[in-house]
Amino acid sequence: MIRSMRPVIVAGNWKMHTTPADAGELARLIAARSRVDRVVRVLCPPYVCLAAVRNALAGPAVEAADGSGVAVGAQDVHHEATGAFTGAISAPMLAGLATWTIVGHSERRRDACETDELIGRKLMAARAAGLRTILCVGEQLADRDAGLARDVVDRQLRTCLAGAAPAALAGDDPLGLTIAYEPVWAIGTGRNARGADAAEMAGAIRAALASIGFADGGEDVPVLYGGSVTSSNIDEFMAEPSIDGALVGGASLRPDEMAAIVARAGLTAAARAGTLA
Ligand code: PEP
Repeated sequence: MIRSMRPVIVAGNWKMHTTPADAGELARLIAARSRVDRVVRVLCPPYVCLAAVRNALAGPAVEAADGSGVAVGAQDVHHEATGAFTGAISAPMLAGLATWTIVGHSERRRDACETDELIGRKLMAARAAGLRTILCVGEQLADRDAGLARDVVDRQLRTCLAGAAPAALAGDDPLGLTIAYEPVWAIGTGRNARGADAAEMAGAIRAALASIGFADGGEDVPVLYGGSVTSSNIDEFMAEPSIDGALVGGASLRPDEMAAIVARAGLTAAARAGTLA
């Protein structure tokens, strides 16, 4: 039987899709169709769509303290709070717009040359502003083929978290820090990792957290899988007790698909809660 206090989370990363004109309706449809008990839902639209999504979710659909509703997240934040950084958005600027943010997504590592050291600073900036964070880690295909996947993720975590006291990162918020294991070769490619491989990497992630000094050996930190997740393959990941949900890219733009993913994740959430009841 699965026994875990960790929440089940499904986060949608809309990447550079949607506009302020259509994002609100998409968010409203996803929120309405994916209402499932005990699954924390997060939508991460582009910055310019945050207000539209936030407004569309206002009222019963918006995130509540008990985890119901849908939370709004950003896809990135700058590592400083203010300054001469043309085109950048800082964590404090997101007040009233977003309560979560992704940091370290592989597309930003690739396109904006973000290093683990910089990502660590972003993480701290986000937490200092009270944002809940999803830190992405994951290996390239060549790393996996060379048997180096665990080493890569271990190094990413150690560097990203080097400047952070674990207690300061999580604070009192059980959702303060979530790690998304996203093998780069599986993102947007239609290829996905096997559930057992993702579970092994979740183990490596928690081993790294434990050695950094996280309480309870990192057992309290949710670990998501990301990489071409759909309603057809989500079960493989949710069947793994060490995996606590998914970071979903392409499929999160399709309301029925997102609803089906959340529904499947809800079965795991119910099983965990049932075991604890
Ligand atoms: C992502 O954007 O983090 C992601 C996993 O994308 P996709 O689901 O499209 O692979």
